[in-house]
Amino acid sequence: MFDVIRIPAFKDNYIWLLRKGASAAVVDPGDAPPVLEVLDREGLSLSTILVTHHHADHQGGVSGLLAHYQAEVFGPATESITGLTRPLRGGETIRPAFGDVELQVIAVPGHTLGHIAYYGSGCLFCGDTLFAGGCGRLFEGSAAQMADSLGRLAALPEQTAVYCAHEYTEANLRFALAVEPGNRRLQRRVHEVAVARAKGWATVPSTIAVEKASNPFLRCTEPEVVASARRRAPDAADDVAVFAALREWKNSF
Ligand code: ZN
Ligand code: FE
Repeated sequence: MFDVIRIPAFKDNYIWLLRKGASAAVVDPGDAPPVLEVLDREGLSLSTILVTHHHADHQGGVSGLLAHYQAEVFGPATESITGLTRPLRGGETIRPAFGDVELQVIAVPGHTLGHIAYYGSGCLFCGDTLFAGGCGRLFEGSAAQMADSLGRLAALPEQTAVYCAHEYTEANLRFALAVEPGNRRLQRRVHEVAVARAKGWATVPSTIAVEKASNPFLRCTEPEVVASARRRAPDAADDVAVFAALREWKNSF
């Protein structure tokens, strides 16, 4: 097991730092200075960098970190990742140098085609695939791919902590409530998140259980979700079509 330290970056990114003893791993370092500051403050040495996909806000800090630390860089084999030393594909299990920890690599195409997630010790690092209350935009993949990817994540144990890469929860839940106004658990979550955000608190990590209960993108077979999607896209016949209709709707919400 490892500790997870949240490092806010840019406007609404989270970089996750995994600490075990005096060594550290970092997930999706979009920016180096805030990571270097935490490593210094905590007296840690960076040995592992884990990247989920190629977007700059997830890997822009890699070269700045490599200027200070000789770290291995894990990332998707099919994307262009700075300093990549360990190209990965879904289905692999890795043992990063930072600690005696096993992580499973899960292929989650949709937001980008090579997007991967890391899962181990009850923690999921899923980049821009599953968000608290929502999911990533389809920049490269299809709705079917993303629906499939989210299904793989939803199948993880209920208590899995979901470490996504952005604080988008409040806006995501506003949309969720428009889709599923009758969901009591969702209503409660909207309230909890509003209270947390008013205090300036983070709403990530969440859990797979919470996401399954209140994230519309994981609820494409629920009658109220299907009905709302069909109001926008009357011929949405199956759950992938429902998912696609929701994703479209969210883009302009
Ligand atoms: Zn992204
Ligand atoms: Fe991002």
